[in-house]
Amino acid sequence: MKELTRSLRESLWNGFTSDGMYTSEKELSWAVNDAIQRTDIYGLRWRTVTARKIHECEAGHIIHEGDQYVSYAYNDAWGQDLKFCMKCSAMLFYFMKTYEFPIAIFSHWDTVKNEPKHDK
Ligand SMILES: [Zn+2]
Repeated sequence: MKELTRSLRESLWNGFTSDGMYTSEKELSWAVNDAIQRTDIYGLRWRTVTARKIHECEAGHIIHEGDQYVSYAYNDAWGQDLKFCMKCSAMLFYFMKTYEFPIAIFSHWDTVKNEPKHDK
């Protein structure tokens, strides 16, 4: 039987290894935002931003106006941030093992309802 839920680990993995085959944009957004919540509950360093102009992510991917991306503030000066597209963010948070951090809000993704849920 097809799995009806995915763990954060699976959602993050699918987020950067597949081209939307297993992961919707909504699921990718959930996975990245949930990983941020687990990593930085007060959003002091990590946050998701909607691009107001075109950017390039740290790996050179184009972030279009209106796209979501992750900003990492590495010092306190305004405008000094690292930008990661959502796919690179999924990879980053996967290898940071954020899925092993305490659950902040949701634990899984419901692939039928296409929304996050608390338990498997
Ligand atoms: Zn990227």
